[in-house]
Amino acid sequence: MTKTALAIHGGEKAVKTTFPWPIYDEQDVQAVADLVRSGQWGNPDCAGAVADFEQQFARYCGSKYAISCVNGSVSLRLALIACGVRPGDEVIVPPYTFIATASVVLEVNCVPVFVDIQPDTYNLDPTAIEAAITERTKVIIPVHFAGLPCDMDAILDIARRHNLRVIEDAAHAHGGEYRGRKLGSIGDAGSFSFQSSKNLTSGEGGMVITSDDDLYRTMNSMRNVGRLPGGQWYDHFNPGCNYRITQLQAVLLSEQLKRLDEQTRIRNENGLYLDSLLADVAGITPLSRVGEELIHPYHLYIFRYDKAKFGQVSKQEFVAMLAAEGLPCSAGYPHPLYKQPVFQQKNWLCYALPDTVDYKNVSCPVAEYACTDEAVWIFQQAMLGSRSDMDAFADAIRKVQHALIK
Ligand SMILES: *Cc1c(COP(=O)(O)O)cnc(C)c1O
Repeated sequence: MTKTALAIHGGEKAVKTTFPWPIYDEQDVQAVADLVRSGQWGNPDCAGAVADFEQQFARYCGSKYAISCVNGSVSLRLALIACGVRPGDEVIVPPYTFIATASVVLEVNCVPVFVDIQPDTYNLDPTAIEAAITERTKVIIPVHFAGLPCDMDAILDIARRHNLRVIEDAAHAHGGEYRGRKLGSIGDAGSFSFQSSKNLTSGEGGMVITSDDDLYRTMNSMRNVGRLPGGQWYDHFNPGCNYRITQLQAVLLSEQLKRLDEQTRIRNENGLYLDSLLADVAGITPLSRVGEELIHPYHLYIFRYDKAKFGQVSKQEFVAMLAAEGLPCSAGYPHPLYKQPVFQQKNWLCYALPDTVDYKNVSCPVAEYACTDEAVWIFQQAMLGSRSDMDAFADAIRKVQHALIK
């Protein structure tokens, strides 16, 4: 085998480094061990290490409040309920995101309305949002997909003019910034996930941030079985549930938060460098970083693939070749969210969806093309590598291209 033989055919890999995730050291282990020995594992009154981490995270994001909860789906759900949605209200979501962004809308008996994404950012297209607004629309949920900030100025302007609430789904966006503000702190509320793949993790967990006193009071109470902050143990004022995290998660998150700025800086710089390396590779177009004033935490580094420049090889085959070269990558979602059985079939659990809503009629061509033909994802832990790792990623792509068009 020559050096240029593709790894998928038994050749040498272009990328030889591996990229561990999560990252931790003895200090993380010690913090959790100390907590285990203290016996204070539970979190009956949202105090102690949980309250400490909430304060740290709120300060970090520049928001007034942070409310932890079991995951980044429940945090979205709490924010929706607190925004005052009623059964049958419409909530605008992108179709190119994790299921939770849309399924929490169903869970609160509202109607997800899918609005297409922009071809160069894969984020909600503000011009399409305006066209989807009806008198039933109550909330917009922009997702900072991959960590790339949405066009928040345009989205907030639309929301203001139509009297809508904005909940940022920042599950990919811990530490990211838009015009000097942390993502998640710009809309009425911002939702984060600490699930194991995310840029800040404790295995599972979630957080919702806000600077709105009323939203805070409602969300805080709802995640703690309807109790009021500072209230009595047996006094329940709201129809809430137990969505509390454990002290074990909180101490681990406090340790992990110390690393977030440095990790975000590294990913952001590596992303810019990889953009420059791929600029002259025909058929590869990284998503565009709209404007200069942003920090991209690269939960994913996404580029657009054009098979015409790769001998007409499908995206799925191309990604299999790249993965074999040692690049931690994926072809991403195979189809947009509205193609999921839950929307196409609308079973008895979707009783709150009006008969007039038929997701078989939904078409978001940009999202569909991203899924089937275009989007390639590189995972965040790979973006924590060195500059020479980024060189190796670009080499892997060039190597595959060379093999396919020689
Ligand atoms: C991970 C994720 C969520 C939900 O997070 P969980 O903690 O897994 O419930 C929501 N939105 C997006 C975009 C996500 O990627």
